Amino acid sequence: MSVPFVDLRRQYEALKPAMDETVLRVIGKGMFILGDEVERFEQEFAAYCGVRHAIGVASGLDGLRLVLRALGLGPGDEVITPPNSFIATAIAITDCGARPVFVDIDPETYNLDLAKLEAAITPRTRAILPVHLYGQPVHMDVLLDVARRRGVPVFEDACQAHGAEWRGKRAGSFGVAAAFSFYPAKNLGCYGDGGAVVTSDDALAEKVRVLRHVGQSEKYKHPVRGYNARLDELQAAVLRVKLPKLDSWNDGRRRVAKLYAEALRVPEVRLPSETPGAKHIYHVYCVRAERRDALLDHLKARGIGALIHYPIPIHRQGAYADLGLAEGSFPVTERTAREIVSLPMFPEMTEAEVREVAAAVQSFYRGGEAARAH
Ligand SMILES: *Cc1c(COP(=O)(O)O)cnc(C)c1O
Repeated sequence: MSVPFVDLRRQYEALKPAMDETVLRVIGKGMFILGDEVERFEQEFAAYCGVRHAIGVASGLDGLRLVLRALGLGPGDEVITPPNSFIATAIAITDCGARPVFVDIDPETYNLDLAKLEAAITPRTRAILPVHLYGQPVHMDVLLDVARRRGVPVFEDACQAHGAEWRGKRAGSFGVAAAFSFYPAKNLGCYGDGGAVVTSDDALAEKVRVLRHVGQSEKYKHPVRGYNARLDELQAAVLRVKLPKLDSWNDGRRRVAKLYAEALRVPEVRLPSETPGAKHIYHVYCVRAERRDALLDHLKARGIGALIHYPIPIHRQGAYADLGLAEGSFPVTERTAREIVSLPMFPEMTEAEVREVAAAVQSFYRGGEAARAH
């Protein structure tokens, strides 16, 4: 039996009648940009996150860059962020002319190593941009304490953390703002590209609203040079069908993680841990494995979808060669990138599929014994 990395068709099958009706209804309305669907989704998503405002945007990257522009960042400014994120986090920073200042990660949580955070703050630091990687929130008590003491705003990259919680509060509600992505495979995904900015700061929300819509404050008045970075009506309507299911999907992912923890007892494989105080929503189920590359080949040969998030740290990407950060700059990140592998994870995964993946991992380390015993 092969096991896909994700299977969005199963989710659609479960939603089909409501989704088909919704999509056709929106097309029938003949209103596609900045209408009721976007407005209502924004209200519903803001309420879900526990903030005052949500602003629908065209992607997670747009959400990130619009907030950094709204905060007024530009050349000479520094933003602290981890080097093991999806590259969009860094692109948002450099796009507005600012410089990413990377801080190495904690080998257990894969999030920013908060013991190294304060030393990275300089007089030019204009924001801390933590990433709740794989759906596990950063330890926000420590991060917010450092940020408050040093007077630096926190802006969350919550693109992998829809519904994740830190001490019962949802990701996205801790900083001055947060950006979410609704890329199809995210925990809440639309049928194309989409994203949102959330914030409880009225002025910041208004700036982001203007920036996403060609810098327009009222019809044909453009006080700033903005973008075309709007969430469209069809995607907003799709998201409105899906949002009420998000918590049960996240519970499904946590169920799969629990099944993995029971089935995957292999000393060569370190399972993800959940920080006390955090509710991990397993956007990605990332394990650390000995002989990772050979394991990956073994899994692929058996039809198991497995990926690496991410194989090349941002500071080692060609796009950021100009930062001059040689191999060895962030040893924990670099070592982690060589050892991690993401196993199949989606809410609809069956127990049999989890066992199949676990058996395939075991057969790699046990020279086929586990496979025969199955
Ligand atoms: C997906 C993602 C983004 C970018 O989102 P897009 O919608 O693809 O632009 C940014 N940061 C992180 C951590 C992500 O996972």
